[in-house]
Amino acid sequence: MNKTFHDLETIPWEELREKKFRTLLKTVNLAKHKVKEFQNRISNLNISIETEQDFQNIPFLPKKKLIDIQEQHFSNLLATEIGELAHIYYSPGPLFDPEGNDPDYWGWAEAFYAMGFRPKDIVQMTFSYHLTPAGLMLEQPLRRIGCAIIPAGPGNTDIQIEIMTKLKVTGFVGMASYLKTIGEKALSKGLNLKNDFHLRVAFSAAEILTNSLRKEVENMFDITLRQGYGTADVGCIAYECEHANGMHLSTRCWVEICEPNTGKPLPPGEIGEVVVTPFSSVYPLIRLGTGDLSKLDFSPCPCGRTSPRLVGILGRTDNTVKVKGQFVYEHQVAEVIKAFPEIKSWELLITNPNKKDKLTLKIETNTDFNSTHLVSLFKEKIKLLTGVEIHSKSLSSKIVDQRKWA
Ligand SMILES: [Zn+2]
Repeated sequence: MNKTFHDLETIPWEELREKKFRTLLKTVNLAKHKVKEFQNRISNLNISIETEQDFQNIPFLPKKKLIDIQEQHFSNLLATEIGELAHIYYSPGPLFDPEGNDPDYWGWAEAFYAMGFRPKDIVQMTFSYHLTPAGLMLEQPLRRIGCAIIPAGPGNTDIQIEIMTKLKVTGFVGMASYLKTIGEKALSKGLNLKNDFHLRVAFSAAEILTNSLRKEVENMFDITLRQGYGTADVGCIAYECEHANGMHLSTRCWVEICEPNTGKPLPPGEIGEVVVTPFSSVYPLIRLGTGDLSKLDFSPCPCGRTSPRLVGILGRTDNTVKVKGQFVYEHQVAEVIKAFPEIKSWELLITNPNKKDKLTLKIETNTDFNSTHLVSLFKEKIKLLTGVEIHSKSLSSKIVDQRKWA
């Protein structure tokens, strides 16, 4: 049995990167000739795109902009005619997601294989099949691997349990929280999750998979539960292998970590926006800004795959502010707060009296809380000074930007 789905996954990273870059240039070239939106975007650049530096100079395409471009005409983003597509999804409206005719168009086979799905697995698919691409997007790669699929869709938990136990289902695809619901329902019916079920491997997406939820569901059924990261625009971007120590970048797209405002790539290891270019021949979104924040881990992985790993999704660019030239991310604030169990909730308020940025960290805690240590830890981790206000009511645990620019 092969260890990886593609031989490419284990060649030295620099070699893999070089190969991917050549494929990337072909995709850029295709977009240059066929995609109106891309032609407009680079019309002022007046350069040929041959090196990585050239590529990085292409203005990135924030996902938010897709809606406006599609409003003008969906076909402006396509490298093919609408009638030549295999499926068109509407997920979530108002965005259309086109799918081409390749057998694994969204490129998830590599990911499922890395997680442990194998030929002859019987897999229950609990993602929806209509309007949203999730069900079919994740079914195609499983068929490519050689699994049988039950297109169960979401809900009908009693029937899900009946099918899983009768057919001795070995694989589950859906939200981990839903698998937990299935387990709890089965227990309430008097079933034994380890004897009556035959699950071996599960794939979770579309929600934050916390370590505690993962462990709970893994222990419940005695299974391996892994997660992948992708979007309905581009398909698979990264996935966990058996070691679950971050998500390996897929061989099927080019991923950059960029400064959210400018789209300029950041030095290795820094937190920034995930900017992705899928090697798609029908929907080649060049430098799509996903709005998700992450960073890359370049340390070797015992699985032998050489691609670096996204360390998880650390937040959204929408929840990020720039203060005194410094990015402040919600998850950083949450991280600082975590060191103080006595703080129940928080809110970081940003104002600019007299045109000067001012931070106030509101916290919900007891009135006798001494904030000295909190202020110094905030300064150490976030590199900014903040004032502290103690409140007795529950706070949003978000960054609230109330700066006025007029
Ligand atoms: Zn690995």
